[in-house]
Amino acid sequence: MRRFTYQALPARVIFGAGSLALLPEEIERLGASRALVLSTPEQRDQARMVADKIRERAAGIFDRAVMHVPIATAEAARDEARRLGADCCVAVGGGSTTGLAKAIALVSPLPILAVPTTYAGSEMTPIWGLTERGIKKTGRDPKVLPRTVIYDPSLTVTLPPMLSATSGMNAIAHCVEALYAQDANPIVSLMAEEGIRALAASLPAVVKRPDDLEARSQALYGAWLAGASLGAVGMALHHKLCHVLGGTFNLPHAETHTVVLPYAAAYNAKAAPEAMMRVARAMGADEAALGLHRLAAAMGAPTGLAQLGMKHEDLDRAADLAVRDPYYNPRPITREDIRALLEDAYRGGPPAPR
Ligand code: NAD
Repeated sequence: MRRFTYQALPARVIFGAGSLALLPEEIERLGASRALVLSTPEQRDQARMVADKIRERAAGIFDRAVMHVPIATAEAARDEARRLGADCCVAVGGGSTTGLAKAIALVSPLPILAVPTTYAGSEMTPIWGLTERGIKKTGRDPKVLPRTVIYDPSLTVTLPPMLSATSGMNAIAHCVEALYAQDANPIVSLMAEEGIRALAASLPAVVKRPDDLEARSQALYGAWLAGASLGAVGMALHHKLCHVLGGTFNLPHAETHTVVLPYAAAYNAKAAPEAMMRVARAMGADEAALGLHRLAAAMGAPTGLAQLGMKHEDLDRAADLAVRDPYYNPRPITREDIRALLEDAYRGGPPAPR
């Protein structure tokens, strides 16, 4: 067995349909009494419902979270937290809302209680992101790790079917890369494989029957394990490519992960055979990359970058940017190979090992 280091992250997780009812006592458990409730404009009603549930513990609502945490939004939310004398943040939403709570926690002592409503997994990581003048900066700081996470699957039934499919594939991507991470370890690999199993088994049912609470619970359980994997070990080629495609070419986050993942897996297939065996086993597929592609296609999710509006003439620049800062990947990165991967991902056909 390889030597490894396992660093556990502190997390209090409350899981199950109806567990949102425990939010008032969880706020008190943190010694807090004035929560700033955060959401996107689209989830304003959910934020109001949460504020009503915590009654006098709600100091106010800030409902302007948007993707990638623009610095102006972060400053506005920080000002609002100060103005209201908030002593904790309750983030109700996906990665965009949790990201805004992290921007507040980065510069204040306010603890975060996260109530995730997508499968992105940000609530389990100490990773923050802030976008200034079109450039997204990210970093790690234990201060931004939510102190309490309430996973209530009943809040996810409103997540539209296609967003559920792509958000779920985003979560599977965390698990796949955790299995071949440079600092992979047996404990995180257990979580990652189980995360893929739970997500692959439940996502097709979620897409068909968005209000199926049992399928929603399985998917959210998988998303938790995926987020924990993302928070615990480093990511590789797939996340780097998605960062470039989302950051520079403005492609949508979860959809981009969905499209790129099978091709990143095909790229790494020969260099990471054990990881791929575990991915395939978790999905009940013969082969990891093909299995991932089939899962996305079966749910009607996009499979090619062209479908997301990527321009063919931008593939060269994307390849240049993707190889710019050296980073770990089980298979060495060359510009020529990455350009070929991007061509395949652009077209969207079944991935073939290269
Ligand atoms: P999101 O948070 O932007 O949500 C997408 C849309 O779905 C929003 O309009 C949102 O209001 C809506 N929505 C969310 N849950 C809903 C529900 N249950 N019902 C109805 N509508 C709902 O999308 P996301 O994919 O969760 O997050 C993406 C962002 O998170 C990106 O900026 C990404 O970089 C970041 N992220 C960060 C980390 C990290 O560790 N820091 C991890 C994953 C993602």
